[in-house]
Amino acid sequence: MPLRGRIAPTPTGHLHVGHARTFALAADRARGAGLVLRIEDLDGPRCRPEYTAAAIDDLRWLGLDWTEGPDLGGPHTPYVQSERTAWFLDVWRRLEATGAIYPSPHSRRDVEEAATAPHERSHGQAVDAEPIFPASLRPTRQERATAPGGVAWRFRVPDGRRIEFEDGLAGRVCRTAGIDFGDFVVWRRDDLAAYELAVVADDHAMEIAEVVRGADLLTSTARQILLFEALGWQPPAFCHAPLVRDAAGQRLAKRSGGLAIRELRAAGWTPAEVLTRAIA
Ligand code: GLU
Repeated sequence: MPLRGRIAPTPTGHLHVGHARTFALAADRARGAGLVLRIEDLDGPRCRPEYTAAAIDDLRWLGLDWTEGPDLGGPHTPYVQSERTAWFLDVWRRLEATGAIYPSPHSRRDVEEAATAPHERSHGQAVDAEPIFPASLRPTRQERATAPGGVAWRFRVPDGRRIEFEDGLAGRVCRTAGIDFGDFVVWRRDDLAAYELAVVADDHAMEIAEVVRGADLLTSTARQILLFEALGWQPPAFCHAPLVRDAAGQRLAKRSGGLAIRELRAAGWTPAEVLTRAIA
């Protein structure tokens, strides 16, 4: 059964064949149920409007049809996250009111120094994992706040809790809070909503029934399920696509030379050829 879905590019570079694959899968699974295009441009100056325009152009060229988005409008405008700060602050306030989050002045370096030897992750994938935020850096007491106020805010994870979900492609997935991930940032010290908060806030507001995205975000999904719970919201279904790798077995990054949809278009590839390359 098709479920209302979304495609959510981050405009920090040109889309590559990995995005083509994930977004085509998302469009396919949502067909007939509605598909939202949402621009996730919360990464400060690294996000550029020309990449947003190029992404929309590439997605149209690939033949993906969304039913709501920045170029179409619809009931959930704006679809550009940098214009949705008031909503994210509202969600920050709800979390603050429940005591689920706390201000955390520690830098990434503090965390790296305080973290003990890397934990054995329960799912055996420590690669690319960020250091686990040590419980010793949690505050012992906390004042109520009315605004995030120039400091990062973290979600206090329930240590030892197993978060399980049935993934549309990856099957049964399980992550353990405090072992696979620690207290994570929901609000950045530069006063932007962090990815985990923004994505949960918007997937809820935009009534997304199934989230389709790359398998690099499987652990984020466990974090997001905790946020949905803390907010009293029903989480969507999830479907994580395997990552596309280049000939050397490396995961594609935004700068992956030669595999950007733009470059393949310029070299005369057809949309079907790009999607087949993406799926191969
Ligand atoms: N904006 C993210 C990306 O481009 C995707 C996040 C998501 O689908 O939840 O990698």
